[in-house]
Amino acid sequence: MTQYHIPLAAPDISEDDIQAVVDVLHSSQLSLGPKLPEFEGAIASFVGAKHAVAVNSGTSALHLCVRALGIKEGDEVITTPFSFIASANCILYEKATVKFVDINPDTYCIDPALVEAAITPKTKAILAVDIFGYLADWKALKEIADKHNLVLIEDSCEALGSVRSGTHAGMFADCGMFAFYPNKQMTTGEGGVIVTNREDIANQARSERNQGRALDSKWLEHRTLGFNYRLSDINCALGTSQLKRLPEFITKRQQVVAWYAEELADITDVLSVPRPQNGVDTSWFVYVVRLADRYTAKDRNALIAHLESHDIGCNTYFPPIHLQPIYRDMGHSEGDFPITEHVADRTIALPFFVNLSKEEVASVCTILKDGLNLLPKSS
Ligand SMILES: *Cc1c(COP(=O)(O)O)cnc(C)c1O
Repeated sequence: MTQYHIPLAAPDISEDDIQAVVDVLHSSQLSLGPKLPEFEGAIASFVGAKHAVAVNSGTSALHLCVRALGIKEGDEVITTPFSFIASANCILYEKATVKFVDINPDTYCIDPALVEAAITPKTKAILAVDIFGYLADWKALKEIADKHNLVLIEDSCEALGSVRSGTHAGMFADCGMFAFYPNKQMTTGEGGVIVTNREDIANQARSERNQGRALDSKWLEHRTLGFNYRLSDINCALGTSQLKRLPEFITKRQQVVAWYAEELADITDVLSVPRPQNGVDTSWFVYVVRLADRYTAKDRNALIAHLESHDIGCNTYFPPIHLQPIYRDMGHSEGDFPITEHVADRTIALPFFVNLSKEEVASVCTILKDGLNLLPKSS
């Protein structure tokens, strides 16, 4: 990938993080050693979960949750098209049917009213996503799930540390999960973790991440179909070390959000900026601005090209899942989810990471404003 002078994202790796990894390399236990339960315990206590099951990616965490909830061929799962592709693909892995419904244009999360309207006798689950760190409307979703006897999955991969009324992201549904790719709030290089209060989900995930071994079985006894979704002790040690600094990361990211808001305050009629939700302490994953309705996707793309030509990393967040080639091949096309498409045509993720300085934010905003002035005036 292209390296920009000011990148879109960058991890913050300290000398302590490096030492934690080196210590594991000096030990003889590189996998299934003591760093695994240590990391799981730290995550569980951070979010207030009874169980945490670490795996090798957020996508693996989603897949094991879908399986643990018994979702299978013939079942429908209602989810959002405005997300990273993994939140829908995990449904396809088990040959269940993805049933997209549109989003709320303010929070970018799934619209509960549309969820209720999409329920059929085949509906088994609702898989909602806490997009960009915004929490979905879990109160409404839980009421719908209870009323129709559905299970709830929270893709909280982008919201580690977001809290509403004392409840952490990841803890609003039957199970939630976090991802630790280097652009997330904290990283393990690659990695993920399931969080849940349900012992049955945790036990099944623990077995299936490790080739279907029963939790007490001999190494070469495999009770059920499993996978190798294990997370090594090297990754876990990095995770535990990063997690210690997560509160500081979240605060620094909130500071960057405040700097951007200040710099962009004079153009909010042209470009809307992310705002924390009422009653939520938001842990920001990305900083996504949105052009006013009168602009087009072409204008947005021109703006991205302008930023990139000035060596600033930025991107479209997110292209709708239903318009990805694999979902088009399943029959989806433009117009299926107009709110998602309208939003996705106008959004831009700007550089956003812990160590982004006030000066860098100012220079991104100057170049962004220059780019806006170059757009056709007729817009
Ligand atoms: C990052 C992310 C995931 C998981 O990503 P991995 O790269 O598999 O760790 C899943 N869902 C969403 C919404 C994400 O942003």
